[in-house]
Amino acid sequence: MANGYVGKIALVDLSTEKIETIPLEDSICSDFIGGYGLGAKLLYDLQKPGTDALSPESILGFMTGPLTGTPAVTGSRFAVLGKSPLTGTWSDSNCGGYFGPALKMAGYDGIFVRGAARAPVYILAADGKIDIVDAGEIWGKNTSDAEQIIKKQLGDKTQVASIGIAGEKQVLIANIINDEGRAAGRSGFGAVMGSKKLKAVVAKGERDVPLADPHKMQELRKEAIRDMKKDDGLFEAFQNGSGAYTPMGIATGDAPTKNWSGSGWDDFPQGSDWTDKDVYKYRVKKYACYRCPIACGGLVKMESKKYGVLETHQPEYETMAVFSSNCLNDNIESLIKIDNLCNNYGVDTISAGSLVAYVIQCFEEGLITKEDIDGLEMTWGNHEAIVAMTEKIATREGIGDILAGGFQSAIEHLGTRTEPYAMHVRGEALPMHDPRFEPALGLIYKINASPAKHLPASQFFKPPGLDLDIPDFGTDIEKQVERARSIRVLECLNNAMSSAGLCVRGYLSFDVRFLAAFLEAATGKNWTVEGLVEAGERIANMRQAFNVREGVNLIDEKFPRLALGKPPLERGPLAGSSVDIDSMLEAYLEEMDWDKESGRPSRRKLNELGLQNIADDLGSQ
Ligand code: SF4
Repeated sequence: MANGYVGKIALVDLSTEKIETIPLEDSICSDFIGGYGLGAKLLYDLQKPGTDALSPESILGFMTGPLTGTPAVTGSRFAVLGKSPLTGTWSDSNCGGYFGPALKMAGYDGIFVRGAARAPVYILAADGKIDIVDAGEIWGKNTSDAEQIIKKQLGDKTQVASIGIAGEKQVLIANIINDEGRAAGRSGFGAVMGSKKLKAVVAKGERDVPLADPHKMQELRKEAIRDMKKDDGLFEAFQNGSGAYTPMGIATGDAPTKNWSGSGWDDFPQGSDWTDKDVYKYRVKKYACYRCPIACGGLVKMESKKYGVLETHQPEYETMAVFSSNCLNDNIESLIKIDNLCNNYGVDTISAGSLVAYVIQCFEEGLITKEDIDGLEMTWGNHEAIVAMTEKIATREGIGDILAGGFQSAIEHLGTRTEPYAMHVRGEALPMHDPRFEPALGLIYKINASPAKHLPASQFFKPPGLDLDIPDFGTDIEKQVERARSIRVLECLNNAMSSAGLCVRGYLSFDVRFLAAFLEAATGKNWTVEGLVEAGERIANMRQAFNVREGVNLIDEKFPRLALGKPPLERGPLAGSSVDIDSMLEAYLEEMDWDKESGRPSRRKLNELGLQNIADDLGSQ
């Protein structure tokens, strides 16, 4: 087995309690790198097409990359992957903290879970061995309590990725939390764990990750950190935590306002004197994921008359934006309360906040009444009602039971007239970066195999040092098609970076050549930027093949017209801006060599990437 990997992936069947080892050949590691890339290949082979995501037959993967748990800068990440119960598409959700490194140090590159337990369990990976452990004591507990109980029993160095009550109740926007506040947030994988009665995956171990050239790895680490700190201020900006970006996001129009219908501070003047310092006035401590010099995390302590004493994690930008400008809510204490509540129940904040904003707009426009929503006064900025509605969704209480099924369930129940205010793609809520601010985002939200996600959307950034001519970022309609063409290479590199186990904030802070160099020092194989693009393209095609085989065609999928500037906003920072999504889509599909009607990858492209068997399977032309 190549270095960088520990050479073992477990397949745990919770129905039969059988534990197998998935064979891991060197060649598929080189072809798909690791993380969700390797996961896409394994899941395609292991899971039958058409499997219901919440059925025992579905498979959920937890995968690390070859750089996870190594000295590579920001090598903390792991991916959760599978078929999303929310969208029915391929999905992967990425997370940092300490769980990923611990899984590798416990002797596993990944764990795949199928079946469903009869009673609640957790999976314990420790010192090269897997156990299925009774979780009766922690079922019904929030994520933070469950983590603390397990750590008390197994020791502080144990790392826990668990679901909360939302996952147990199969809320379709339930997430998975590790380190009490790091979330594999999107796609509803918490509900998949709930359907399997799997409360947590727990990792404990102190094995070294084998490296081809440990000395070189340490040297590269020092060089990469020097490179990150060099000049452009991005490193410093990332150190403040993403929440610090919120005031700027609202001022520029990047952050949606008033459920995407408003215009920055014009519609949200209450927050216009916010600075990043206001956002973090409650911060008492900073912290980092595994060996990360950026350390973007923070803990806050708040003593609020309304919301009591809270010691919790600082909210990230997406949470801040969706529950502040998007709901016209300027009460920062309520944002911290909501963040804590969502982490503890195990609910995705972007999805919950988007559903709340939709309910507010439907209520304000007279499309629904108080009777429809359990008597709550869902008006813009009513933070108490916003907190209450979020809690209802997380616990499936009253109207929350409908909203817990996501936008599709909400529209079915509240009426198709509410549909224009539902900002989602196939049920996944749009993230808090507006395509009217950067049109390439619209393309990525629409066509990425795991749609409406903000981490793949970072593909629109060019990493430092990449020799690729891309038109400037911005809304110029003439340049949208050119930008769409450049997404292929950026997407492929982004896939390679994530699959290797790095964090996007590291990747965007140091020269792209470090990614290849870290991989080479870890695995001993020769990696170049071109090789990374090729592997990333193989991963993109594998994810797309999963969707095609499931009968998912994102080309035909509805996309919220408001987010495309149809009609354009009349005032504010995004006035007049619109997105030519059809032309961008056509250019992108041409670059990818995917069929313009079905999205099916061409036989030529699949052959070029060594995926002939996939071409046969899909009947590619
Ligand atoms: S930048 Fe932040 S999220 Fe990324 S690895 Fe570092 S601490 Fe974790």
